[in-house]
This record gives sequence, structure tokens and C-alpha cells, in this order.
Amino acid sequence: MSQILVIDDEVVSRQFLIAVLQRLGLGKVSEAVDGLDALMQLDAGDRVFDLIFCDLDMPRMDGIEFVRHLGERRYRGKLLITSGFDGRVLSSVADLARLYALCLCGVLPKPVDPVQLLALLAAPVEPGEAISLPLERLSSKELQQGIARGEVVPFFQPQVEVVSGKVLGVEVLARWQHPQLGLLSPLQFIELAEENGLITLLTKRLLADSAQALTRLATRQRLNMSINLSMQSLRDSSLVAAFVAILGDAGLDVPRVTFEVTEGGVMADPARALEILTRLRLKGAGLAIDDFGTGFASMDRLSRIPFTEMKIDKSFVIDAAAHATKRSIFEASVELGRRLGLNVVAEGVASEQEWALCRTFGVFAAQGSFISPPVDEASFSAWLAGCGGQMPLPS
Ligand code: C2E
Ligand code: CA
Ligand code: CA
Repeated sequence: MSQILVIDDEVVSRQFLIAVLQRLGLGKVSEAVDGLDALMQLDAGDRVFDLIFCDLDMPRMDGIEFVRHLGERRYRGKLLITSGFDGRVLSSVADLARLYALCLCGVLPKPVDPVQLLALLAAPVEPGEAISLPLERLSSKELQQGIARGEVVPFFQPQVEVVSGKVLGVEVLARWQHPQLGLLSPLQFIELAEENGLITLLTKRLLADSAQALTRLATRQRLNMSINLSMQSLRDSSLVAAFVAILGDAGLDVPRVTFEVTEGGVMADPARALEILTRLRLKGAGLAIDDFGTGFASMDRLSRIPFTEMKIDKSFVIDAAAHATKRSIFEASVELGRRLGLNVVAEGVASEQEWALCRTFGVFAAQGSFISPPVDEASFSAWLAGCGGQMPLPS
């Protein structure tokens, strides 16, 4: 039987929700009067909760702080926020829960409606992308060996032209096929690579492997390829010649490649970085400002580096149809990119509504789970053959 915890300082709302849950027969219900009370029950460890309902505004410990504690304890059950707050606050709390890799089913306004509750519980939930991953288990030595043994492999996510549905190319995304831990996400090892001087090695290896994979894919159309390039790699001018040689060996023309410049950490030598990027551009490669609108992907950068492409970060695209703020940032970014003469690519296009927004806003190309998640070479090849290089357009 499921163990459920209801956290709410207001007696009336707490009792109302408990009555609803009991009527629905969803499991054994416990209650807590605020975040601190809930945390003590969680840490006591008598019960492992599968489902937690949490109010936001509470004395001693509010729901936002409680979400952090749940994240730190790697709570793996489901979480539902109940609150009377407005949409902006609720969507920030939802983002926070996702940052802590919690399984957030959604947010319920109070008083809780049983029909809405059941709908949220029935919908599939994916845990968010964790910011606190088991980095401590992975060492740089292990990563270095993994790269040398060819365990770090490219996955491919298609990029599709929005007006025509034509498959234009792929973004190459790193995966580590770890012999013990299985397939690892880049969020678990890219930072480790950057911090230990391994990122350039990793990128060269990935560039070679993916360029060869792309030339192997005997398709009627020539696909382009985008690859992520960390700022940390922009230190040594010999990088340009090394990249050109790798592409030459694979038989892939430099203009078919776009480097997506991502920023993890500080730019050590801005002049050297600018030199390398400009020379890559001179050789014909495209340059994309990645994750536009977040972190260091700023206006300042946009005006100094000869970018050819703007990638709108998925945080402004996912759910944009339902969030006025995200939608406005999305739309304004597309407009800016177009005025600057850049190819605007939206990542995180996960639903038909988001695809429709791309059309409305004039996005050039889209990438996201609505089209395909990142997959290995064999699956990508099968996907491409299946659609004939042309995504069927939603009507
Ligand atoms: P990014 O460059 O912003 O890549 C896009 C990320 O968004 C990918 O995550 C992709 O799987 C995800 N994504 C795309 N569409 C959707 C969608 O519809 N829904 C959702 N929920 N997610 C979507 P991934 O593969 O986990 O990569 C995460 C980040 O790791 C990348 O973000 C990039 O910053 C970094 N990374 C990956 N490979 C490399 C690499 O070879 N070098 C460097 N420097 N960084 C890399
Ligand atoms: Ca990218
Ligand atoms: Ca991004």
C-alpha cells in the first residue's frame, strides 16, 4: 500500500485533502503541520513515502525550503505542490523541483479538486535533470581511460527545418558508456572533463567519431552536424588546425559543421577565444551561441563573436505554450536572432504546441523530443530511413 504524506499548516485544507485521498483509496495517509515536521518524519525513517503533497506558505519551514531538503535526500517518490499562489511563483517552484531531480507531478490549486488530482497522478512524470549527480563516484582518471577506450560516444539528435520538415542535420551529444554504471548523461561528466583538462580530448574524439558516422550514413541529402565546444577548449590556437584535420580525415567539409559554444566556467583568455572562434569561422565552420538567454550566453557575447546561429535554450521552449513569461522570452529571442541575421534554432521542442509556436515565431530549425530524443548511430540511421529525411508535418 502506498504511503502518502500531506503537509499543510492550515487544518481545514489539510483535513479536506486527507478526506479526498481516503475517499479515493490511494494509500495510507500521514500528515505534517509544516516542512520541519515533515522533514523530521522523513528522517525518522519509519515510513518511506511514495507520494507527498506539499503546501508552500508554512511557518518554521516553507514548502520551497522543504523541496531543497527533498532534493538533498534524493527523494524518489512523487511530489505534488498544493497552493493558492499565482502562476509565476508556482512555475518557479516547479523549476526548482526539477533542478533537484524530483518527480514533480504538478501543482494543484486549493481546495484540491479530486478529478484534477487523479489526472495529475495518472500522467507520466520524468524526473528533472539533476544538478546534484553522483560526481563523487567518478574520477578524472576513470574518465581519461574511458575516453581513451572509446567509451565516450556520440548520440545524435535531429534538427529539422520548421517550414518544410526537412531534416537538416544533427546535434552531437556526448554519452559515456560506462562499463559498470551504464549509459551516463553529459551532466554527469562534462563538468568533470572541463575541470580536469580533458574536455578538448573528449571533443576531438567525439568530432572524429561523429564525422565518420555522418559520412557513413549514405543518405540522399547531406546532413550537417553541430557539436558542443566548451570555452575551456579555446586556449590553444592549434585547435583550429586539429579540427580541420579531423574533418578532412573523415571526408566531411568544414562548412557542414557548426560549433555550439557553451560556457561552463569563466573565459580564461578572451582574446585567444575570440581568435580561435573567428578562425574556425574563416575556415567555413558555423558558430552557434548555445543556451541563448541563460548564464553567460549574453548580449555582450553576441555582439563580439561572429556567430551564425542562435540556439534558444530549452528552458524557454518547454511549456512555452502554457507560460506567458517563457513564451515572451522565446518570441523576443527569435526576433532578436532574426534581426541579427542568425539562423534561429529552438531546442526542447517537446510537443505539437511548441512546434506550432516555432512556426508562429519564425524559428528556422527545431530540435526536441517531439521530433526525436538523442539516440545512438544505429537508431538515428533507422529513424532517418524511416522518415526518408523528411518529418511528416503536423497539420
Ligand atoms: P545542450 O547543448 O543545451 O543540449 C541540448 C540538451 O537538451 C540535450 O541534453 C538534449 O537531450 C536536451 N533536449 C533536447 N530536446 C529536448 C526535449 O524536447 N526535452 C527535454 N527534456 N530535453 C531535450 P543532453 O544530451 O543531456 O546534454 C546536456 C548538455 O550537456 C548539453 O546541453 C551540453 O551543454 C552538454 N554536452 C553534451 N555533449 C557535450 C559535448 O560533447 N561537449 C560539451 N562541451 N558539452 C556537451
Ligand atoms: Ca548544444
Ligand atoms: Ca540548452
